[in-house]
Amino acid sequence: MSVASGVLDRLTYEGASALSREAVAQWKDKGGKVVGWVCIYAPEEVLHAAGILPIRIMGSTEPHSIADAYLQSNMCPFVRSCFSQGILKEYQYLDGILSSHTCDAMVKLFDAWRVYVGAQFAFLIDQPHVINRFSYEYHMGELDRLVKQVEAFAGVAVTPESLRQSNRVYNENRLLLKELYELRKSENPPLTGSQVHDVVRAGMIIPKEQHNLLLKELLAELSDSHPPKAKGPRLMISGSCIDTPIFPKIVEESGGQVVVDDLCFGSRYFWDLVAEEGDPLQALSRRYMDKTHCACIPLPRDSRYDFMRQLIVDYRVEGVIFYGQKFCDPFAYDFPDHKPRLEKDGIPVMQLEVEHASVGAGQLKTRVQAFIEMIA
Ligand code: SF4
Ligand code: SF4
Repeated sequence: MSVASGVLDRLTYEGASALSREAVAQWKDKGGKVVGWVCIYAPEEVLHAAGILPIRIMGSTEPHSIADAYLQSNMCPFVRSCFSQGILKEYQYLDGILSSHTCDAMVKLFDAWRVYVGAQFAFLIDQPHVINRFSYEYHMGELDRLVKQVEAFAGVAVTPESLRQSNRVYNENRLLLKELYELRKSENPPLTGSQVHDVVRAGMIIPKEQHNLLLKELLAELSDSHPPKAKGPRLMISGSCIDTPIFPKIVEESGGQVVVDDLCFGSRYFWDLVAEEGDPLQALSRRYMDKTHCACIPLPRDSRYDFMRQLIVDYRVEGVIFYGQKFCDPFAYDFPDHKPRLEKDGIPVMQLEVEHASVGAGQLKTRVQAFIEMIA
């Protein structure tokens, strides 16, 4: 169902990783700083406005047990995999880490990273878990604190102009990704779900300006493509941190199409824009407080369901796969909330609890195939 595309090769898992290595090397050669971020509640825009290159820290396609010597073993595989990469010196080029207090595993990763991997700059945003007027004020205070520490670390002032400009670059990126997602509404989407997963991931590890240029090239190529008729039920994957395309590929190999997602390596990363009018820091704070939330932010209660429901309608989704990382409590509590509501609306759902998608891939495939056969 996908089209051949030159630019797409540069945005694959391997292609984007190579681009990222080049970009980091060039940045460092010019004396620039690079800071890793982990969770999508970390406002990268502040780093960008200070001339720092933000790079998302991720796990790898293979599980490693090295993290077990540092973290308790009932920590989610995503956090263990990210931390293993740090210990294995895959992120040695980072000058710092920016994360947010969303779930306890995220905090644990931040603390362990500071101590065992090391970071000249380390900042944890205390993300409010309820949304009200006090929490808006509190979050604004957190962003003020972040700006001051980033300025001191980078030796560069984050001015309203520089932050406004960063907000614009990030908004452009979000709009281009939305254009790409729009193409997935078609009966014959020009890209598979795993390819789109790669394209979104690429934007987290290369400079945003470069990603914007590549996305424009890709969209131009896709506008001329004539993909063949797609086969298999139209599915949505919902859940926590899927940092490799392994699982979307498993779904595709099992006979389904992944036409949309509710993931923090997918739509939840870019869906919401920052207002470009008014005070840019205030606008940024509102964006992170009002964005499409992860299960870690349980209130307001219905917003996650409403988001999913709208995607299901817009993308004509025929089934939802809930992908939970093992030991991930926030999403384990999320699923029972949504399942009966979706089933009442006639949407088939299945839940998976996964250690690492590359472990037990055969078993995962069997379960996904059974689900697809039930829908088809
Ligand atoms: S699933 Fe939630 S807590 Fe985990 S990285 Fe994504 S946004 Fe952050
Ligand atoms: S939300 Fe779940 S998967 Fe993501 S970091 Fe937290 S515990 Fe891990």
